[in-house]
Amino acid sequence: PSAMREVTLEVPKVNWEDIGGQKEVKNQLLEAVVWPQKHRDAFTRIGTDPPTAVLMFGPPGCSKTLMARAVASEAGLNFLAVKGPELFSKWVGESEKAVRSLFDKARANAPAIIFFDEIDSLAITRGKDGDGVSVSDRVMAQLLVQLDGVLKRVDVIVIAATNRPDKIDPALLRQGRFDRLLYVGPPNEIDREEIFSIHLRKTPYDSDVSMKELAQLTDGYTGADIAHICRQAALAALEESFDASVVTMKHFKMAIKQVQPSEFQSYQKLS
Ligand code: ATP
Repeated sequence: PSAMREVTLEVPKVNWEDIGGQKEVKNQLLEAVVWPQKHRDAFTRIGTDPPTAVLMFGPPGCSKTLMARAVASEAGLNFLAVKGPELFSKWVGESEKAVRSLFDKARANAPAIIFFDEIDSLAITRGKDGDGVSVSDRVMAQLLVQLDGVLKRVDVIVIAATNRPDKIDPALLRQGRFDRLLYVGPPNEIDREEIFSIHLRKTPYDSDVSMKELAQLTDGYTGADIAHICRQAALAALEESFDASVVTMKHFKMAIKQVQPSEFQSYQKLS
């Protein structure tokens, strides 16, 4: 079976409003991805190339994937997502071919975004096999060839994400490749308040529920943790009674006790 049938193509429906905080990252992505699509002529007129591939880095659960989907949605681009490790596990022996067909598919469906999640996984074993060229060396070489090929065109955009920027293969970071790095960090208190209201849009809650207080109680929690808290709070209300019509502050406090904050304190910010 063709490897590429497994990479689905879609135009995501994620709006900027679905992402709390991260104003700076949103602006940077608009500039790097949306502007060149919408104002191609202006770039030519002013005699400059649009920015190259974008690498988002930061701790898990802080909206990297969400961001990539929102930018595709905003610019009306087709979206092809692949996780680094999948290139090895799903298509054993065919990994290089999988990389090539991924880019072929993006070109055939341009304008499109290719989103590589966990891109660090492509570099881990590179060059450590001793003699001969390892599979990961060949996959990386193919990726670099393909990347350099599409970077010359505006209609195929490559975005990658990683939790481990220290593990990224330096060849990928070389000038003209992933040379736009965006740090997507954990939410501050104001961001958390926004994230709570986003995740509670469809949930009726009691008048005693204060988003501000919820934000204060969740220092150290990521966006993904907050989404989890909101689900747990709604479940707690239902556990109490299937007749429940609102989620109350008590349910949120129970949920916050249940959900441990993600450990991003140990995360090393790339300087
Ligand atoms: P990973 O590195 O684990 O892939 P990530 O940074 O890509 O993490 P996402 O997959 O984008 O994180 O986020 C996971 C979920 O957490 C989202 O689907 C969303 O429900 C919630 N979330 C995270 N950050 C935010 C945010 N800023 N606003 C709203 N929801 C958020």
